[in-house]
Amino acid sequence: TKFVYAFSEGNKDLRELLGGKGANLAEMNNIGLPVPPGFTITTEACRAYLDSGSQPAGLAEEIATHLDALESAMGRKLGEPGDPLLVSVRSGAAFSMPGMMETVLNVGLNDASVDGLSRQAGGNDRFAWDSYRRLIQMFGKTVCEVPGDEFEHALDAAKQAKGTDNDLDLDADDLRGLVDGYKKIFAKHTGREFPQDPKEQLDLAIRAVFESWNADRAVLYRRQERIPADLGTAVNVVAMVFGNLGSDSGTGVAFTRDPASGAQGVYGDYLANAQGEDVVAGIRNTVPLQELERLDKASYDDLMRIMATLEEHYKDLCDIEFTIERGKLWMLQTRVGKRTAAAAFIIAGQLVDEGVIDLDEALHRVNGAQLAQLMFPRFDLSAEPDQLAKGIGASPGAAVGKAVFDAQTAKELAADGDDVILVRRETNPDDLPGMIAAQGILTSRGGKTSHAAVVARGMGKTCVCGADSLDVDVRGRRFTVDGQTVEQGDVISVDGTTGKIYLGEVPVQPSEVVRYFEGTLDPDQTDDALVKAVHRIMSHADAKRRLAVRANSDTGTDSARARRFGAQGIGLCRTEHMFLGDRRELVERLILAQTAQEREAALADLLPLQRADFVDIFREMDGLPVTIRLIDPPLHEFLPSLEELAVHVAVAHERGEDAGRDEKLLAAVRRMHEENPMLGLRGVRLGLVIPGLFAMQVRAIVEAAVQRARDGGTPRPEIMVPLVGAVQELETVRAEAERIIADVVADGGVEVLIGTMIEVPRAALTSGQIAEAAQFFSFGTNDLTQMAWGFSRDDVEGAFFWRYLELGIFGISPFESIDRDGVGRLIRIAVDEGRAARPDLKLGVCGEHGGDPDSVHFFHEVGLDYVSCSPFRVPIARLEAGRAAV
Ligand code: ADP
Ligand code: MG
Ligand code: MG
Repeated sequence: TKFVYAFSEGNKDLRELLGGKGANLAEMNNIGLPVPPGFTITTEACRAYLDSGSQPAGLAEEIATHLDALESAMGRKLGEPGDPLLVSVRSGAAFSMPGMMETVLNVGLNDASVDGLSRQAGGNDRFAWDSYRRLIQMFGKTVCEVPGDEFEHALDAAKQAKGTDNDLDLDADDLRGLVDGYKKIFAKHTGREFPQDPKEQLDLAIRAVFESWNADRAVLYRRQERIPADLGTAVNVVAMVFGNLGSDSGTGVAFTRDPASGAQGVYGDYLANAQGEDVVAGIRNTVPLQELERLDKASYDDLMRIMATLEEHYKDLCDIEFTIERGKLWMLQTRVGKRTAAAAFIIAGQLVDEGVIDLDEALHRVNGAQLAQLMFPRFDLSAEPDQLAKGIGASPGAAVGKAVFDAQTAKELAADGDDVILVRRETNPDDLPGMIAAQGILTSRGGKTSHAAVVARGMGKTCVCGADSLDVDVRGRRFTVDGQTVEQGDVISVDGTTGKIYLGEVPVQPSEVVRYFEGTLDPDQTDDALVKAVHRIMSHADAKRRLAVRANSDTGTDSARARRFGAQGIGLCRTEHMFLGDRRELVERLILAQTAQEREAALADLLPLQRADFVDIFREMDGLPVTIRLIDPPLHEFLPSLEELAVHVAVAHERGEDAGRDEKLLAAVRRMHEENPMLGLRGVRLGLVIPGLFAMQVRAIVEAAVQRARDGGTPRPEIMVPLVGAVQELETVRAEAERIIADVVADGGVEVLIGTMIEVPRAALTSGQIAEAAQFFSFGTNDLTQMAWGFSRDDVEGAFFWRYLELGIFGISPFESIDRDGVGRLIRIAVDEGRAARPDLKLGVCGEHGGDPDSVHFFHEVGLDYVSCSPFRVPIARLEAGRAAV
């Protein structure tokens, strides 16, 4: 294997092998941009090194060969005393991991070559010693784990002794002294002298970069960002160019467009007389890039030309790092730049306008997660609220409320009508009631896979976690940050998108993008660039997608909203929601019925109520399919809790009162108690054991449809039977339903489909048989996931999912994104066998996965006809379905 690539041998498509930095350095080199010569050691070499703990055979020789070539190109030898070549040793993985791994500059300097470097620079001792002290500092810290702040302290002391706080005021002698101090620090912590052999420096630095892949913070970052753990990093060895040679030199960073708004212009920072790491470290204040035009017009013009070349070449926003050495511009890094969600849409639209990309490509430049971000309400920051801290945005949204520090108080205050934010160091299952009661959750520890983050995302609740500057004192009911204290009851505002936490109530703005989807903001009338871009890209997604998108909705109001958001029907109308509220009593009567008459009377009272609900929904979804699921959950969910009832009855008995009805209820609740209700009497099983229940529902649906048709509408009902595991179950329900349909729709004016959910694994495995009796399948992926894995969602998300995520058993909760290998396999089987048995079988999905971006791509791949999701997610599913299709 070839382990080392000269820049001339690589290109931008080799990022897995050369890392992003290496691949793009090669690309810039190949398109003729000024990149200092160098070479890249592959990620494969890193993996081999990490697996075996030593350099793979042949690597050392290859490095030597490439170093020779570099030395010839530069006309200098690494660290040679009279005229040294210096290099940087830079990490660079396939995925950008900002600040996570290591870079060492000025490798090759030692007690002898420092003088040679000074001579190269025309007798510039200050520059040479500044470079040397930087090497010892970076090498010590990143290669030998010397605590960085010891170097910082020594630097501060030197500045103090000089009576300055600007490192530029330190002269050559000061820096020479500092180097002595640094060497002592180095020796104290490593038990050896700072290595003087340039080749040894290089070798140790390369190993340190390899090993930085497994540094704690890198491991943690990858887990948070769901980057695979086994990729390894590449190592770039690059000839040094010097921005610290004087005021005609400097270093900077720039974007080809504004990464926040997408606006074109000059965006960046510049720092004269400095080396690259100074910009990031914030040692001195940078100046806006525009200043460079005044300082060094020729370099500035060069830079502008190069940025235009890069945009044209990458056809996208790029960010860059550059250094100017005595008026000569060098490119040190570029990549397609990260950007905000809004900028992603705007830039994609702009690039289409500029003729750089087409609309298909524009679809690839945005994604559903970004669209989701744009749909959350945002904080209005125009009043510049007081930012307390920044953590990890773990679950998006803008939440405002009183800080509380325990679940009990959260519940109590929320019950009194207060909005609260639950603040904890970290959360555990005991905090669940408080999390439910809170508007938002804030923790000082843990990342995107912590308990707080996982549970909050599952609940769709705003969450910021890992705000580690917060000192949370749960007992004292307060937290402190930067000397400020927030007591229980103080209002804070938490932004789950950016991770920022503010003191006080920050006003919340509705999202323009939602207003557009709702139809209250006309994209042709506004000059909001974001809305225009979203409109354009959504229209293209709609034109391209093959999947239809429906909504899950149980009411006329939700259905109307879903339709405005672009839903092409309803994929799941849950009838049980229609059994709650003041209708609960009717359901109780049904359950308590001792005789057929009592039962029929209860059903007769429910019938018109259900029918009216369906009329509403059919009206809002006129002309579009509406899938109505017959009653699904265990009946006891409609009854009072066993404990409460038992207490009621006991109290009544004590008082010598007649508990009458409650007593009957109690007996019924006892009778219906189940150890595993999710696997008990529910779904189709209910329909088969309670005479008349499904019949009443079917009648209500069909009568509503007939009524709508009579009023001139076009209802398209689809009756869906839940929890079927065997075709015989479906056949039984179907036979009864067909009799009712024939009876009610005597004139044939309404077409009614009958189908089933596929949510029991056995149904997927016998789908060929089931398709004989079903006109459609709808995958209930929530239950299918629960039953395929054998765990109940309500119990596991809080109890141990965080641990599973930590251990990498899954990278993401299978309830958030479809488990392709397991649950997905069941779906594929059902699609194939169902369609084989019945070619015109309609296939859809109605679990929450229907609105999850990755899952939508999977459903597209397996060839479903539609996905159905909550109304708010409909635009996200539309966009992702479009992206899947181009
Ligand atoms: P990161 O990935 O953290 O940005 P880099 O490897 O890009 O780390 O290097 C850190 C800084 O050092 C950057 O500002 C970069 O421009 C600068 N740098 C890296 N290599 C060289 C070099 N050969 N000459 C001059 N500056 C360099
Ligand atoms: Mg960099
Ligand atoms: Mg289900």
